Amino acid sequence: MVSHRQIENLLKGNRDALFSEADAQRSHHCGDGVHIRGIIEFSNVCSRNCAYCGLRRDNTTLKRFTLTREEILTTVALAEKSGVRTVVLQSGENDTVRDEWLAETIKAVKDRFDVAVTLSVGVKSRDCYALWRQAGADRYLLKHEVASVSLYNTFHPDSQLDDRISALRDLQLLGYQIGTGNIVGLPGQSPTDLAADILLAHTLDVDMAAFGPLVPHANTPLAHTASGDLDLALRVIAAARLILGPVHIAATTALDAIASDGREKALTCGANVIMVNLTPSPYRRLYDIYPKKGQPNSVRSVQDILARLGRPTGTGYGHSLKQPKRGFFQKRKGHQTGLGGTTQDDTASAP
Ligand code: SF4
Repeated sequence: MVSHRQIENLLKGNRDALFSEADAQRSHHCGDGVHIRGIIEFSNVCSRNCAYCGLRRDNTTLKRFTLTREEILTTVALAEKSGVRTVVLQSGENDTVRDEWLAETIKAVKDRFDVAVTLSVGVKSRDCYALWRQAGADRYLLKHEVASVSLYNTFHPDSQLDDRISALRDLQLLGYQIGTGNIVGLPGQSPTDLAADILLAHTLDVDMAAFGPLVPHANTPLAHTASGDLDLALRVIAAARLILGPVHIAATTALDAIASDGREKALTCGANVIMVNLTPSPYRRLYDIYPKKGQPNSVRSVQDILARLGRPTGTGYGHSLKQPKRGFFQKRKGHQTGLGGTTQDDTASAP
């Protein structure tokens, strides 16, 4: 039985011992291979007003965009060609992208390309999740952001933590591999709150997790807040590895926004997945969720990181490391099935 106290002690404990044990556990559960997840930010339209986010609806200075289906498919083609086996279709929460349009887009991706599809488009209805699952989506990333209800309400004026947790449970029942995560460094956040974030991921029995630092954006109420602390974010990743065991833990792009080697460091203390931004360049700067420092963010730059670390690129799709309880992988026409079957393609060297 995992307790708050146990996680807090990990977070506050000896840094070298924590990182070393987390790296050993990463190796044990995931092997040395690092899976590359290619993010395609297909729409920056958002109807929410989260206090830390540059896409919030009150940021009226931001030019909004939504990629066409052809632009998405062209980007997936480039991703597949460069060896990426998972694409993450991400957007703000909005109703301007029709559920059916996204379903048809997912189906087109799965029909034409040999990739797994992760969605990250926020809280939607169960029927909508079912539609996208039926269209071929494999995974869903829905960060809970912060597990303390009072902190959640402080930074999210128009959404409820309970709704996010219910959505994650719906997604899991529908057979998605699910992921959650938090923001490290929110004002007022304590080690107890961070422990609660990890505990919630454990309780939800997630397949993936992403813990990233706060990166303040100038056009938000948190403009003058300090960035999240890199060391603390790495401690959260390391502690999460020890508590969550066989899950994919991401080295997120936000880590590189506060330190040029942030993702690289995360891969040495528990992370086994690396995120790379594949959004086409005319739109990438408009997905202004937080200020990016212009660090290299390409498959090539990620491969350079892995080469420096002496770690291979993960083989296979990088599906869940947990037993395939729910028939995870959606078959692509003309390709092998993994539906209800094994994740063996991943387990040899995978995250
Ligand atoms: Fe919208 Fe997500 Fe940003 Fe909140 S965090 S404003 S839901 S894009």
